[in-house]
Amino acid sequence: MRCEEVREALPSYTRDGDTGLGVRRHLSSCAGCADELVHYQTLFSSLEQLRSETVTPPPELFHQLASIPYRTSRGQDVRSHVVRHRNRYAAGLAVAAVGAGAAVWKTRRGRVATA
Ligand SMILES: [Zn+2]
Repeated sequence: MRCEEVREALPSYTRDGDTGLGVRRHLSSCAGCADELVHYQTLFSSLEQLRSETVTPPPELFHQLASIPYRTSRGQDVRSHVVRHRNRYAAGLAVAAVGAGAAVWKTRRGRVATA
């Protein structure tokens, strides 16, 4: 067998153990493929350990995560962003208040005119 054929069979050889005499013969005579087999065995062993380990998060984790301030996509803290731009927010609120007042005034004036 050629190295390419054997290396394609190595994952199933590692998992199932036996893929045929040709693979075993090649592994006994090819150091490169034997090294590759060791890598697969290490990988499969690590994956098996991950499967059997269950990590329970500490009970205070939720509160710690909830206390992290929200950050914008540019990494800014929302609170510091509002403080830095408070004049713009105040102007926006003033414009909204004037617009709402004008709408109320216009609505009341229309009622008076039709009454
Ligand atoms: Zn080989």
